Amino acid sequence: MQESTLTVCYIIASVTFILGLKMLSHPATARRGNLIAAGGMSLAVLATIFLYHDENGNALHNYGWIFGGIAIGGIVGVFVAKKVKMTAMPEMVSLFNGMGGACAALISIVEYNHLVHRAADSVIATGELLIILSGLIIGTISFTGSMIAWAKLNGRIKDFAFKGQHVLNLLLLLIIACTAAWLVYSSREGEAGTSGHPLMIFYFILLLSVTYGVFFVLPIGGADMPVVISLLNSFTGVAAACGGFLYDNKAMLTGGILVGAAGTLLTILMCKAMNRSLLNVLIGSFGGNAQSGTAGKQQGAYKEISLSDAAVVMNYANKVLIVPGYGLAVAQAQHACHELEKLLTERGVDVKYAIHPVAGRMPGHMNVLLAEADVSYDQLLEMEQANEEFPSTDVVLVLGANDVVNPAAKTDPSSPIYGMPVLNVELAKTVIVNKRSMKPGYAGIENELFFQPKTSMLFGDAKKVLQELIAEIKSL
Ligand code: NDP
Repeated sequence: MQESTLTVCYIIASVTFILGLKMLSHPATARRGNLIAAGGMSLAVLATIFLYHDENGNALHNYGWIFGGIAIGGIVGVFVAKKVKMTAMPEMVSLFNGMGGACAALISIVEYNHLVHRAADSVIATGELLIILSGLIIGTISFTGSMIAWAKLNGRIKDFAFKGQHVLNLLLLLIIACTAAWLVYSSREGEAGTSGHPLMIFYFILLLSVTYGVFFVLPIGGADMPVVISLLNSFTGVAAACGGFLYDNKAMLTGGILVGAAGTLLTILMCKAMNRSLLNVLIGSFGGNAQSGTAGKQQGAYKEISLSDAAVVMNYANKVLIVPGYGLAVAQAQHACHELEKLLTERGVDVKYAIHPVAGRMPGHMNVLLAEADVSYDQLLEMEQANEEFPSTDVVLVLGANDVVNPAAKTDPSSPIYGMPVLNVELAKTVIVNKRSMKPGYAGIENELFFQPKTSMLFGDAKKVLQELIAEIKSL
C-alpha cells in the first residue's frame, strides 16, 4: 500500500516538473511554474522520507540528519536567493548547480563504498558500477566546473589558459574513461574484490575528474560563462538521473532527465543566438583577453545630444523603439524606462521594445527585467520582428546595450562577434545611445554604431538619464 502511494507521489511530482518547465517558457506563467515544480519536488522528497522501505521492509530512521540538512540548505538557499542582484543571477545559478553536482558525486562515493564492502561475499553488478562511475565523473566535473565558473563570474579568478591546454584536457578525459573502464572490467561479476585496490582506483578517478572540471572551465572567456553554466547544468541533470537509476527512484530519474535535456537545449539555443558552435565557445576566447577586429581602434568622432534635444526628438516622433541591454539591468532603470514609455504613449507616440535574445547576462534577462516593471508583453518585439520595424522607426533609444547593436557582427569578419545576429538599429532615422562612457561592452570591442552620422550619444547612468528625460518631456 505504502509503495503504491509512493509511486503515485512520484508520478504527481513528475507531472509537476513537466508542467513547471512548460510554464517557465513564458514570463507571465514562469513564477507559478516554478512554484508548482517546487511543490512537486517537496512532495517527492517528503514521500521518500516517510514512505520508502528497503527490500527488508526497513524505513528511513535518521530524521535528525535529514531534516537538519534540509533546514540548513533551505535557510541558506532562501537567504542567498532573496539577496541576489539580477545581474549576479548566473553566478548564483552556477553555485547552486555545483551543489547538485556535488550531491550526485557524493551519492556515488557512498554507494561505491557500500558496494565494495558488500562485494566480499557477493558480486558487483557491472551495470550498477557503470552508473556509479558515471554519477561520480559527471557530478564531480559539474561541481568543480561550476565553482570555477562562479569564481570567474564574480571576479575572484581570471581566465587562465596555457599552450596545449585543450590537448591536456582531452588527454585527461581519455585517462578518466580508460581508468573507469579498467575498474569496471576488473570488478566484473564473479571477480569482485580481486582488482587489487578498487577504492584507490575509484578515488583516483575522483581526483582526475576534479582536475578536469577545473581545467575545462578555466580557459573559457568571461562572456561565454552563461553558456558553460547551462552546459554544466545539463551535466548535473544527467548525474542526478544516474542517482535515480541507482535507487530506482522515478522522480529523481525524471527530474534529472528533464534538467539534462533542458540544459542541453538552452546551451544550443544560446550558441545559436550568438551564431557560434559549442566547440567554438569551449575552445574560443570570446569576451576573454582576445581583442581583434575593430577592438580598441578609435573610429573617428562621435557626437553628443543634450537631454532637452533628446526629449524633443522623442516627443515629436511617430514611432520609437527602445533597445534595452545589460546597462539597463545594472542601473535598475526598468521602472523609469516603463514610465518614459507610458509618457510617450500618452503623447501619441508608438513605443515598443526590441529584445535581443542574448542582451544582458543570461537568456531572457531583458524579458524578466521588463516584466518586473509591468511592461506589457505585447510591446516586446523579438529580434526578427524588430529588424523588420527599424526602417520605419523615427527614433531608436539604446539603453545600456552595446554588443547586441554592433554592426561589426555583419561587416567585420575579424571581429569576435562576426556572425552573431544583431539588432539593425542603424536602419532607423535617428539613433540615441545611452551609456556612461565610450567603453566597450562585454565582448571588449569597439562599436562603430557610436560613430555613425545618425547616432548621438546621451551619456550618463541609465536610471538618472531616463528620470531627467521624463522631466524634460513633461515640461514640453
Ligand atoms: P554589453 O555588455 O555589450 O554592453 C552593456 C553596456 O552597458 C556597456 O557598454 C556599458 O557601457 C553600459 N552600461 C553599464 N552600466 C550602465 C549604466 N549604469 N547606465 C548606462 N549604461 C551602462 O551588453 P549587451 O546587452 O548589449 O550584450 C550582452 C553581451 O553578453 C553580448 O556580448 C552577449 O553575447 C553576451 N552574453 C549574453 C548571454 C545571455 O545569455 N544573455 C550569454 C553569454 C554572453 P559604459 O560602461 O560606458 O556605461
